[in-house]
Amino acid sequence: MAAKKIRFWRNPWTIGVGSILIASIITSGFKAVVSQVSPLAALKWFGHGIVAILMFGIPIYVVLLVVLLVIIALDVATRPLQTPVAVSQPDYLSYTTTTYKRWTLRWGYRERLDPRRYEIRDVRPVCSCDCELGPYHSLPIPALECPRCGKRYPVFSPEDADNAAKVIEHDIRHETYKTRPETLKGLVA
Ligand SMILES: [Zn+2]
Repeated sequence: MAAKKIRFWRNPWTIGVGSILIASIITSGFKAVVSQVSPLAALKWFGHGIVAILMFGIPIYVVLLVVLLVIIALDVATRPLQTPVAVSQPDYLSYTTTTYKRWTLRWGYRERLDPRRYEIRDVRPVCSCDCELGPYHSLPIPALECPRCGKRYPVFSPEDADNAAKVIEHDIRHETYKTRPETLKGLVA
């Protein structure tokens, strides 16, 4: 009986059919779990497996091996392709406001990919009440006016914006932005 059993498992036909069967069980089970089909479909797949085991008299160690392979396959398939790497951002990105001459300024940053660094963008004056300023059409000297509280400020020229950006860059390079009291309110804790 034992010899017959060994002959059965060494038979090329058994090995061939067995391999296909095991592969198909793994594949369908894999698909069922990955695509998260209904419990009924999973049960059906499980039923097919049981029928196959009974029909071919597959020994328990083969069944256990198949189960183990399925678990390994699922573990590999559901593992994220790449562990996300936490990209640390520089502290100064929270430095977005300061005072310059008679203006309170605000700005943002634009990321440059190569080399990875940030550039200052959209430097503009805001009101001391924190509202963005609009133009005030007065003659002969135009001005900026706060649409919220009506406070007026000198016009902020593109040259002023360039110079302010240079001061901001200097603050960042020398890390003085960390201690300047007027900038602290712009820092996120
Ligand atoms: Zn205002």
